[in-house]
Amino acid sequence: MTDTIDRTGASGTDDPAEELARWLESNWDPDLTVGEWWDRLGNEGWSAPAWPTEWYGRGLSREDAVRVGRVLADHGALGPPGGLGLLLAGPTIVTHGTDEQKARYLKDIVTGQKAWCQLFSEPGAGSDLAGLQTRAVKDGDEWVVDGQKVWTSGGQVADLGMLLARTDADVPKHQGISYFALEMHQGDAIDVRPLKEMTGRALFNEVFMTEARVHDDALIGGLNNGWAVANTTLAFERAGLGAGGGSAAASAATPGTVAGDLDKRAGDFVGRARRGGPGGALGGAEQLILELAKGNGRIGDKVFRQELMRLHTLNELVRFTNLRSKAEREAGREIPGAGNLAKLSMSNILRLSRELGLSVLGGYGTLHAYGDDRKALDEATGNPFAAMITEMALFSPGPSIYGGTDQVQRNIIGERILGLPKEPSNDRTTPFRELPKNG
Ligand SMILES: Cc1cc2nc3c(=O)[nH]c(=O)nc-3n(C[C@H](O)[C@H](O)[C@H](O)COP(=O)(O)OP(=O)(O)OC[C@H]3O[C@@H](n4cnc5c(N)ncnc54)[C@H](O)[C@@H]3O)c2cc1C
Repeated sequence: MTDTIDRTGASGTDDPAEELARWLESNWDPDLTVGEWWDRLGNEGWSAPAWPTEWYGRGLSREDAVRVGRVLADHGALGPPGGLGLLLAGPTIVTHGTDEQKARYLKDIVTGQKAWCQLFSEPGAGSDLAGLQTRAVKDGDEWVVDGQKVWTSGGQVADLGMLLARTDADVPKHQGISYFALEMHQGDAIDVRPLKEMTGRALFNEVFMTEARVHDDALIGGLNNGWAVANTTLAFERAGLGAGGGSAAASAATPGTVAGDLDKRAGDFVGRARRGGPGGALGGAEQLILELAKGNGRIGDKVFRQELMRLHTLNELVRFTNLRSKAEREAGREIPGAGNLAKLSMSNILRLSRELGLSVLGGYGTLHAYGDDRKALDEATGNPFAAMITEMALFSPGPSIYGGTDQVQRNIIGERILGLPKEPSNDRTTPFRELPKNG
């Protein structure tokens, strides 16, 4: 094991939030570059406090890790690197990687030096992820990768990708998949093309791989064991993105060598909201809608008030469920399907927030500012928050799709938690090569 930190018992205090507050007094400096600041934060275990102490973490519970995020925000310091490295790739490598792989990848994740994307979905394999057709063929110490991915969030700024590829087509589909850490900078072999969403942004991309190469030592979790590894990634995705997930603390600066934020002044990103994408404070939307409704008199409408209370109730249910989860965990138990339920709650809350937000805006809700310059819209509507509502409304279908659609979450709850019979299928016994393909 190289270049790792053991800070077991180093704190000298029982409360990590207090320890971080003291550490920030002497370490946070807005004039540092983003890269310098993340280097400090990551190496001290504050970027990923829930990770093990020997791998750039502090071994904290999820609740304490969320509290740590709040301390950073309250202090006015830049939060840890956002994106899929810290949210998905890191925890997956902590779980399935060899010590050599942990040493190679984790430090660059917690210090934001490298950005990651998730190369899972394909044009013919979304909900049916195990039907993926990108293939990796062994060539000496390397694998040669050919295929197409789609909806790859952050692919345009990624240094590395969590790649799922088929390494054996002669076994049933779940058994012939492997999980690689793919270097994205391979010239023409990896072509990343942005896809524009209806928000006007291009959060995700198509990724074409033509004879791309990945070394055998970048195979995570063993040959043909990719389905198990991918499920770990997806579990972290649900937990992180679901209602009450702890991703809101991540900073507005983008990690990695491509975005160009590492050399910028850290203080300039403080207080800026993250642009688009997963996460965000759901309770914040409720507060915003309430203030807007008070401002334009809509708050007097009885039906509106009733729906606003429904939104409040949903947010409260999430809060209580989180408290219940915490109590269960402390007693050494888990609520079965908590992650799936959290993700479904997030979809419901977002949909209702969209309806309420647009109903408060009325006709103005049909206007949207594309691009970063929202001034014209603010002036036209006289409302500096209108663009936040329309942005949320236009993005609102996304969360009920990514990380497994609402319908797929319900299937999982039905089959794996309630024990309902699975749909009849031969795809667990028939070799992938012989199955009918989606496209
Ligand atoms: C904003 C956003 C970001 C994303 N980022 C990424 C990313 O970074 N990396 C990545 O790999 N992917 C990403 N995705 C892709 C996402 O994971 C897929 O869109 C999702 O898994 C659904 O797959 P699909 O689009 O192929 O839809 P399909 O699987 O074709 O589904 C179409 C419809 O059929 C329903 N359906 C399908 N199968 C079943 C079933 N068995 N039972 C009931 N209903 C079913 C679905 O619920 C859906 O309503 C992103 C998607 C979005 C919207």
